[in-house]
Amino acid sequence: MAVIINDTCINCGACIDECPVEAIVDEDDNPQDEEVYYVYSDKCVECVGHHDEPACATACPTEGCITWDAIGESPSHRDDVTDDQRSNKEPVVE
Ligand code: SF4
Ligand code: SF4
Repeated sequence: MAVIINDTCINCGACIDECPVEAIVDEDDNPQDEEVYYVYSDKCVECVGHHDEPACATACPTEGCITWDAIGESPSHRDDVTDDQRSNKEPVVE
């Protein structure tokens, strides 16, 4: 994963059009069959080269809904995010 949307997502849709690489799908297309939006880790670039911080998290109105996750298949990632932030799934935006 790269960033992850957790189960506090309210399906408001604010994030999906902000993603520069179309990594986000809505609850109808969630491959895990969960009723929340979903980030494809093999597409998410953590907004490197696009924005100063992940645009989905900036747009999200739900506190703590979008968190850091392991780099995994992400084609690009932020070097300033620590392993602790990733393993503890800390919010992207505090
Ligand atoms: S961090 Fe950026 S690239 Fe990744 S899902 Fe969010 S908006 Fe898309
Ligand atoms: S902006 Fe946040 S609450 Fe709204 S759909 Fe995206 S992840 Fe869910």
